[in-house]
Amino acid sequence: MPIVNRFSDLLPDITAWRRDFHQYPETLYDVHRTAGRVAELLTAFGVDEVVTGIGQTGVVGVIRGRNTASGKVIGLRADMDALPILETTGKPYASKEDGKMHACGHDGHTAMLLGAAYYLAETRNFDGTVVLVFQPAEEGGAGGKAMIDDGLMERFGIQQVFGMHNYPGLPVGEFAVRPGPFMASADVFEIVVEGRGGHAAWPHTTVDPVLVGAQVVTAAQSIVARSVDPLDAAVVSITQFHAGDTDNVIPPSAWLAGTVRTLRPDVRDFVEKRLGELVAATAAAFGARATLSYERNYPVVVNHPAETAFAGSVAAGIAGADRVETDAAPMMGAEDFSFMLEEKPGAFIFLGNGDSAKLHNPDYDFNDDAIPYGCSYWVKLVETAMPVRA
Ligand SMILES: [Zn+2]
Ligand SMILES: [Zn+2]
Repeated sequence: MPIVNRFSDLLPDITAWRRDFHQYPETLYDVHRTAGRVAELLTAFGVDEVVTGIGQTGVVGVIRGRNTASGKVIGLRADMDALPILETTGKPYASKEDGKMHACGHDGHTAMLLGAAYYLAETRNFDGTVVLVFQPAEEGGAGGKAMIDDGLMERFGIQQVFGMHNYPGLPVGEFAVRPGPFMASADVFEIVVEGRGGHAAWPHTTVDPVLVGAQVVTAAQSIVARSVDPLDAAVVSITQFHAGDTDNVIPPSAWLAGTVRTLRPDVRDFVEKRLGELVAATAAAFGARATLSYERNYPVVVNHPAETAFAGSVAAGIAGADRVETDAAPMMGAEDFSFMLEEKPGAFIFLGNGDSAKLHNPDYDFNDDAIPYGCSYWVKLVETAMPVRA
């Protein structure tokens, strides 16, 4: 079972949608034009229900199969938002919005799910219901969570959920997936160190927050190096350190900030706890006070085993088993599809984007040659999971 032939015919249309989204990138929840176009196309395809405004600007399309006796409901998710990056591809369809570009390929994800919607609404060769989820604000805005908080799963009765992302460096026509933790949690934190300011020539009359902050930076690195099991992945990066205004004054306080990435919920809990302990104890050791504000953003993308095996088998049916990596290495990037996998069983898979620039790079472009593979994956997933019985 190679790619679905119908997508050779549909490729010019799907490519045109993709390049149109590419020319008019929109960021975070401000995806009004893109969402409007998605809703318009879904309606034109004859999708049974099109609902807008879920999670602010998310769009949901519902397609019922030839029959729905199986009672199965599968959610397929694409993201619609772009990034605040100035595009340098020089492509004829390059961004017309200064300082915004589709540098993560969400234009391709949206177009591929639209292509699948066209085919599924046309053929209905399945027994059950497909819920097409087009979400805003994947890039840091937790748009997936906003849609869940708006009742996405209950309202449409979604039982299983699947996501897909393009992957530069993986050849076109190949897929990569793994059961269990696949992408990292991404949390952010701030540390305020309060000392006592004074004249830089009389340091003994002060409690120097710069020195204390430096100790905090060093101590924080002991978490990954000495407290987390070496076989578990974790990153603690302090990326900002601001204190003082001039050369002869010891400032009263210092402000630090950074990010924590982990691949397991228990490691995430541990790092947060340990960071708080180290910040407080390190400051106390120097006679200062320090507080940690820790904000949990995206959780770990944890693929469910049965759905991941299924996703891998569907991909193998399209690409050939030797072109599907089913035990791909986990990575420390983050994805808000993780919120959906916390709600329902499912799997997130990577689709080869070929030898392109990396994600979030101003030279990146989604590879239109991947469209038939991505669309075929979506429709074969539906037809295989919910076969029409004779
Ligand atoms: Zn991205
Ligand atoms: Zn992305």
